[in-house]
Amino acid sequence: MEESRNFIQQIIDEDIANGKHGGKVITRFPPEPNGYLHIGHAKSICLNFGIAEEFNGITNLRFDDTNPTTEDTEYVESIKKDIQWLGFDWEDRLYFASDYFNDLYQYAIELIKKGLAYVDDSTSEEMAEQKGDVNIPGKNSPYRDRSVEENLRLFEGMKTGVYDEGSKVLRAKIDMTSPNMNMRDPVMYRIKKTAHHRTGNDWNIYPMYDFAHCMSDAREGITHSLCTLEFENHRPLYDWFIEQLGVFPSRQIEFARLNVDYMITSKRKLLRLVEEGIVSGWDDPRMPTISGMRRRGFTPASIREFAKKVGVAKRDNAIDISLLEFCLRADLNAIATRVMAVMDPLKVVITNYPEGEEEWLPADNNPEDENAGSRLVPFGREIFIERDDFMIDPPKKYFRMAKGRHTRLKNAYILHCDDYILDESGEVKELHCTYVPESKSGSDTSGIKAKGTLHWVSALHAQKVEVRSYDRLFMDPVPDGHGDRDFLEFVNPDSLSIVENVLVEPALAKAKLGDYFQFFRKGYFVLDPSSSDDHLIFNRTITLKDSWSKMQKK
Ligand code: ATP
Ligand code: MG
Repeated sequence: MEESRNFIQQIIDEDIANGKHGGKVITRFPPEPNGYLHIGHAKSICLNFGIAEEFNGITNLRFDDTNPTTEDTEYVESIKKDIQWLGFDWEDRLYFASDYFNDLYQYAIELIKKGLAYVDDSTSEEMAEQKGDVNIPGKNSPYRDRSVEENLRLFEGMKTGVYDEGSKVLRAKIDMTSPNMNMRDPVMYRIKKTAHHRTGNDWNIYPMYDFAHCMSDAREGITHSLCTLEFENHRPLYDWFIEQLGVFPSRQIEFARLNVDYMITSKRKLLRLVEEGIVSGWDDPRMPTISGMRRRGFTPASIREFAKKVGVAKRDNAIDISLLEFCLRADLNAIATRVMAVMDPLKVVITNYPEGEEEWLPADNNPEDENAGSRLVPFGREIFIERDDFMIDPPKKYFRMAKGRHTRLKNAYILHCDDYILDESGEVKELHCTYVPESKSGSDTSGIKAKGTLHWVSALHAQKVEVRSYDRLFMDPVPDGHGDRDFLEFVNPDSLSIVENVLVEPALAKAKLGDYFQFFRKGYFVLDPSSSDDHLIFNRTITLKDSWSKMQKK
């Protein structure tokens, strides 16, 4: 079946059929370097690079660095890293809007000369007053009819720093009665005496987004400028600048922002989580940032697949987070190495296993991948199993260990539980079991049917590690959707739980960043970058099944 084409693909199909731009497709991803990228940006990256790839085009990376007060090179570097990690390549097309400051200045002068821009001395209150609202047409500024010569002189003065911040702006001269508020003589330049992270103190004026963005698109020959819906009302202005200046006719196309339940996709709000210490940083594994998701153990392929499944919409909507989790589990299931880790250890002595002996048993790394190979897991007289895999008084449907029952150990033997030993407080201290030598995994001739299969680690060989498990950062699916209530009210106080002294099989001592693991029966895990050789920390990426949403429904 042919996949149905989304509205952006349809527009481009049509442009190509009409021979527009000679069939060329050039898109761009235009982040403002004022924060780390989040899942919504990932969607935009996949869309822009994906469209270009599909139509044999190219995608530019352009930093929209027109506001020096909030921008920083730390953000530039993190954004580049995140895009590469997601699997996209801008090749040699790394641009900055600030590279165009001279051109933009020349374009502004051209508009002044055409009588289409003027310097306004009104205060911001006066300008707001003049602007009117949707029901009231605006009024012309008293400075609107300044001569071209005066405007040129004043604009030059703004640039060279003669005037104070806030004392003057450059405005486009369009129509103060337009039903579209963006067309009521929008501001093009404001005075800002702040050093810029790339141009230093060269400029005392900085262009506004609406002017800078369309001119940057045009300058790069962007054929299809994809942006989110909030810019729909800005499109007439985008087109106006292009038309008046007669530059390359880039076309702006809007699509709906990606919103995911339980995830915040506003850099400003994410910054608050960081600044108020609610998370450990932009890359905290609970953050919906690309860096946080990477640290948590998301794979680039799972995020790309999610973006694809979400598709593009023309109306804002919320995506169920379980779709993202589904994509993640599907990818991890295919690539994660299966290992064994015991979170809450209970000692088991195998009384018929010779003291001082050990054997190394083969274990498949990934039954889903025949090329994944196998490794050896040590087995001996003393092992640990999970405390809740044993019950003194088990109910009927309990298929784990209990006195008098047979249970299989993953990759090893069937055990018979002969007895349990209690400590002074009445807690189970250890189990005494016998193993069935002819029941070895892969060559079982015992004929014994053991129902459950348990994970375990050899007591002699186990390594101690720390495990961090995460729950949702917010208790509400739309924490920023409660009117006046601050989204921080909905932070989940129990979103991080740490277990020290988790016992893992020795192979995990060699875990590297970028390795993905499935701890048998426990979930998917990755090494945390803050680990050191003698203190390994693993992050739980996600459980094997969606136990969380099931619990919520109860
Ligand atoms: P924020 O609101 O988080 O500050 P932004 O839109 O201001 O985001 P930019 O750096 O300007 O952040 O965004 C770069 C690109 O990513 C823009 O084209 C923007 O439209 C797109 N983008 C941002 N958020 C989303 C989202 N939630 N879904 C899809 N695209 C997004
Ligand atoms: Mg923006």
